[in-house]
Amino acid sequence: ENEDLKLLLLENISQGAVKGFKAQGWQVDHFAKAWSEDELVQKIGNYHAIGIRSKTKITARVIKAASKLLVIGCFCIGTNQVDLDTAGKAGIPVFNSPFSNSRSVAELVISEIIALARQYFERGWEMRQGIWNKQSKGCWEIRGKTLGIIGYGHIGSQLSVLAEAFGMRVLFYDVVNLMPLGSARQTDALSDLLSESDFVTIHVPELPETMKMISGIQLAQMKKGSYLINNARGNVVDIPALINAVKSGHIAGAALDVFPVEPGSNGAPFDDQLNAWASELRTLNNVILTPHIGGSTEEAQRMIGEEVAGSLTRYLNFGATVSAVNFPEVDLRAITAEQGDHVRICHVHVNQPGVLKQVNEVLSPYNVEKQYSDSKGDVAYLMADIADVSPQDVNKLRELISRTSANILT
Ligand code: NAD
Repeated sequence: ENEDLKLLLLENISQGAVKGFKAQGWQVDHFAKAWSEDELVQKIGNYHAIGIRSKTKITARVIKAASKLLVIGCFCIGTNQVDLDTAGKAGIPVFNSPFSNSRSVAELVISEIIALARQYFERGWEMRQGIWNKQSKGCWEIRGKTLGIIGYGHIGSQLSVLAEAFGMRVLFYDVVNLMPLGSARQTDALSDLLSESDFVTIHVPELPETMKMISGIQLAQMKKGSYLINNARGNVVDIPALINAVKSGHIAGAALDVFPVEPGSNGAPFDDQLNAWASELRTLNNVILTPHIGGSTEEAQRMIGEEVAGSLTRYLNFGATVSAVNFPEVDLRAITAEQGDHVRICHVHVNQPGVLKQVNEVLSPYNVEKQYSDSKGDVAYLMADIADVSPQDVNKLRELISRTSANILT
């Protein structure tokens, strides 16, 4: 039934994904550029699925025009470019790939720890200016040093394993109690981690409670001569306070990959118009500055393509919404070829009392083998696998279910 599906892929989404969709028998229109809102409004009505990166904006107006659209795939990390609420209410799940670059970030942090400990960023910079400055003062091996990881999620825990392989002692602080990997140890308080660590690295999301979570007080709690690394989000560190701590010599060096305001395109200046302290920060030789490249690797890009294409395919084939950002997460084990007489009902509806009763009345004459439902905000989603259904029954069921009240998708 899915053979007539039409997919629109914008912003040069990987050929691997295009091939995968074509192999499903779906028609794929593939374009290198983002489309404007007007262009989308004009043409999106033809498509059942759309794949975008960060430049295509899926607004409420676009969703209104998307009469056949079943699913949106963001082949990137963020989903701000999509009106998630309107999409959810229209019964359209949105998928992205938030964790495919965790390993890339963890590896960058390892390189920053060594770069800071050995001061090779400064030495390399001096060499480019024709200055030979061989020295060992203030340069360290990382073996035996303590790494403090703030936020032990996908990136923090991956980093924990890599750091121990280098002979580091690992402490972590997290709001959730988590199983330490290897010989790592969770601290009860952030201040314990700060006062014991030679290197502190931040891997928490940007939340109201993580804004400026490292500012003057926390920097003062860090060991004299220790280092701070931030690859999480720019607002988590109070950068003027960090500049003071580095200038005073209390903090021996820092690496920053993220900033409160970041330039919108390559080649744009990183200056005081964006962040008032930018030029002062740029004068500190022992602060490594990188343009938000933590997750920017070929491997991460490939994995994003595979993961989002996989999510779209599973949704279009089986209705699975696990890992959707705006939608109840529902899945049942895939129906196998031997279960040819099975039918899967996927019913998206407004989350209000009485709808499940109506759907179950329709299903009650049949042998419902498995059923699962969940809700998120205003949207609810029910999945049911029914055995021994004839083709006539399928049509009857489709019609009956589409007549149940408060139904979004018909
Ligand atoms: P994650 O959700 O897997 O882990 C975050 C961890 O932080 C969780 O364990 C959570 O419990 C913990 N946490 C939340 N609030 C906390 C608090 N107040 N104090 C202590 N711990 C807290 O996220 P992740 O994939 O590991 O990513 C972490 C951060 O890295 C995110 O902000 C993400 O945006 C950023 N990131 C940056 C890049 C880059 O290019 N530099 C790439 C990927 C991710």
